[in-house]
Amino acid sequence: MERIRNYINGELCKPASDQYLEVFEPATGKPYALVPDSSKIDVENAYDSAKKAFITWSSISIKERSEYLNAIADKIQDKLDLFSEFESRDTGKPIQLASTMDIPRSVYNLKFFAQYSKEYNFNLKLQNESSKSRVVRSPLGVVGCISPWNLPLYLFTWKIAPALITGNTVIAKPSEIAPYTAFKLSEICNEIGLPQGVLNIIHGEGTTVGDAIVSHNYVRAISFTGGTQTGMKIANKAVASFKKMALEMGGKNPAIIFSDCDYDKMIKTVIKSTFTNQGQICLCSSRLLVQKGLYEKFKKDFIRKTSEILIGDPKEKKVEFGAISSKSHYDKILNYIKLAKDEGGSVLFGGNPIKLTNRCSTGWFIEPTIMEGISNKSRINQEEIFGPLVTLIPFENEREAINLANDTSYGLSATIWSEDNLKLERVSE
Ligand code: NAD
Repeated sequence: MERIRNYINGELCKPASDQYLEVFEPATGKPYALVPDSSKIDVENAYDSAKKAFITWSSISIKERSEYLNAIADKIQDKLDLFSEFESRDTGKPIQLASTMDIPRSVYNLKFFAQYSKEYNFNLKLQNESSKSRVVRSPLGVVGCISPWNLPLYLFTWKIAPALITGNTVIAKPSEIAPYTAFKLSEICNEIGLPQGVLNIIHGEGTTVGDAIVSHNYVRAISFTGGTQTGMKIANKAVASFKKMALEMGGKNPAIIFSDCDYDKMIKTVIKSTFTNQGQICLCSSRLLVQKGLYEKFKKDFIRKTSEILIGDPKEKKVEFGAISSKSHYDKILNYIKLAKDEGGSVLFGGNPIKLTNRCSTGWFIEPTIMEGISNKSRINQEEIFGPLVTLIPFENEREAINLANDTSYGLSATIWSEDNLKLERVSE
């Protein structure tokens, strides 16, 4: 089986422990590669190399740094098909999604920050009658970037690009569940001649590698995307060394659908916002709040549209809905479906694991699932499931919709469907 390598000081290397974890292909449920089970020692080596590289990297111009980012982006673009295959294999997401969203967006992320930073005013001069002040924004030093499995390269690049362009050097940890495209990115960094130590990629588990980055006394900032519980642990630890933090975490996102919406546009979009990537996107709608006058019609059409989603081998170009990213996540979603039934919910569509044929017969597939009749206070409507399970909740009026939408401890995103602009502004506030 192929062995993924760490990337330290410009070298692709094995972990100090020489220990590895299996990487699975969700569509088959079988391992296909090994990823380093790295330790604190690898993080310490990465830190040393990043610290050395910082002196030069932070002193070259933004223009020069942007040339490196653009060169990495161009190489990924050249290999778009290959990277899309890798991302689809690693996550179980349809190749059509990886090739139209994940990988193009990774290219865009690098290019966006390369361009944006050239135009950004890093130094401000402020003057009044009695004083002159200057605000100077300068790089921090070595920073840590920790990313999740659902949009692997997309979120990995979204973290490393702003850190690098502004002159920091980076220790990055991709998710151990979907590490392959970050590994391929490290090969590209060498191909384009990124200076040694500027970017270091350490593979392994959160509780070892992630924790070692967060606990490191001299890592100056943490940019993290992942679960809320993990974010909470990270925040508690990082505060001990006064690290700066950017934490992007979970959601329990409502879509509020008013009777006066553009119905066709709404239903076409809500199907996507609910089930894209098998519901494993932080911004996916997981509670559909539907105004009572529209509820029955919406329910019927939403079920029909869901039944038309093409489920299958993510490798096939036409497939729209693939596998769940890991066995433990698959089990967790099925448990939530069971819990939803126990909480009195009725299944309107789906609710079962799927057995596909051929190479996917052992894969982790779950039907897109629609349920109703569950209180907004229930665990199903309060906890982030992060899978293809959505609930329908009727509401009477604007006030009730807002109360239901806000009745959650999460605050990540919400969508509102109406053709009344004043209502959209009121409700979004
Ligand atoms: P996760 O929290 O389990 O893991 C995220 C990353 O943190 C992984 O690299 C993991 O190895 C690492 N990690 C785990 N424990 C750690 C620890 N103690 N210290 C340091 N690092 C640790 O999340 P996941 O299951 O990979 O991803 C799904 C979650 O990510 C969902 O909750 C989803 O909402 C969230 N997410 C949020 C956004 C956003 O922008 N808000 C985007 C995508 C995903």
